[in-house]
Amino acid sequence: MLLYDTLSASKREFEPIDRRRIGMYVCGPTVYDYNHLGHARTYLSFDLLHRYLRFKGFEVNYVQNITDVGHLVGEREAGQDKIKQKAEQTGQSLTEIIEHFSEAHKKDLRLLNILMPSEMPAASAHIKDIISFIEGLIEKRVAYQTTEGNVYFAVSKKPDYGKLSRRGLTEILTGTRVEPAKDKRSPADFALWKAAPIGTKELTWESPWSRGFPGWHIECSAMSRKYLGDTFDIHGSAVEHVFPHHENEIAQSESLTDKPLANYWVHTGLLTINGQKMSKSLRNAVTVSDALKNYSANEIRLAFFQTHYRKPFDYTSQALAQGVSLRSKIFTSYSGSLPSESDKAIWDEIISALEDDLDSPRALAIWAAEGVNKLSRQDNDKLMAIFGLNYRHLEDDETASRLAKERDEARKKGDFLTADNRKAELSSKGFEVIDNEQGSVYVPR
Ligand SMILES: [Zn+2]
Repeated sequence: MLLYDTLSASKREFEPIDRRRIGMYVCGPTVYDYNHLGHARTYLSFDLLHRYLRFKGFEVNYVQNITDVGHLVGEREAGQDKIKQKAEQTGQSLTEIIEHFSEAHKKDLRLLNILMPSEMPAASAHIKDIISFIEGLIEKRVAYQTTEGNVYFAVSKKPDYGKLSRRGLTEILTGTRVEPAKDKRSPADFALWKAAPIGTKELTWESPWSRGFPGWHIECSAMSRKYLGDTFDIHGSAVEHVFPHHENEIAQSESLTDKPLANYWVHTGLLTINGQKMSKSLRNAVTVSDALKNYSANEIRLAFFQTHYRKPFDYTSQALAQGVSLRSKIFTSYSGSLPSESDKAIWDEIISALEDDLDSPRALAIWAAEGVNKLSRQDNDKLMAIFGLNYRHLEDDETASRLAKERDEARKKGDFLTADNRKAELSSKGFEVIDNEQGSVYVPR
């Protein structure tokens, strides 16, 4: 299988460290707000990769962290902690915010039919690991403590710093993302540990340097190492995390272990809404639960997978309508009779598209256009599992089966009012009614 690796800027044959078990780390949410569709796209893309690797027979040790401390507003060193800011705005306690949004995140994953990661470690539960990681970096003289009680990573001590985002230090120094702090040796240095203002109790810990809290980047380095080891197969997230987050993870981890952090760096493309960047100020952010009010998880998944995961995706009603029609097409054919043997050429074409850096748009196009009727039920089921589609059988839903029966009888008697009412009720139960010459087909949404 070919997988695009941001670090080498090329599609490379995927060679796992272990022939059976893959280690995959994906940066998880900062739990101060609901997931919007940009987040959903990232988790859906990695779900497709996760499912495809399982289809190929691998066991996947998938770690997705929960950031519950240290992610600062504007990702600035002097910014306020996002969770603390939310607590001040809402009057809730930090624990309430963290619990509420961690649960909301897990619920979104379930509702989108995303396979749960093997581990979802929270940063606040790994402070010891983080502190000993920082101690290791100080020992190696790539990090320094200041009189203010902060600890910074000295970027000048990592000669290949910038290799993932392909920017030189001059470019980084003139960029907008770095800022001088009084006690930093260089503006490009970034915080590993921050001293908390005196008297702050919540979400602060004693450390050799000060009572404080860890930086956001070090959390991922410490937790990925704990659960997946010094070097693992796949590290991923959205493309906006290439710099500074992943660049800094690489600097920290590789300076400590002298080994590569991950063999493949996988990044998902940006998501826009009607051509605009999604933002709080534009008030155009759509949450996962907003989207699920109008579309089923199957439809959202198919709409997203119709664009390659690395390309930008524009969330529009047309894009979603394509997801709806694709779902309808695939499910209608699937509900009919299927051959006992698959057309091997079609199966191979679909799989070779997926082998090519998960070319889901091509795979879906072949499957939907001519594939479903030419593949056995078993092979169709394999594709359903790869794309994470959930086909609910009408017979498994007692109420829906009764409504369908009543509708069929009403239509025979010419009672179209009752038939229409049953159609609407079936729709609210998540079944689409398709009438054709042979009769009516009821397919799940
Ligand atoms: Zn991370």
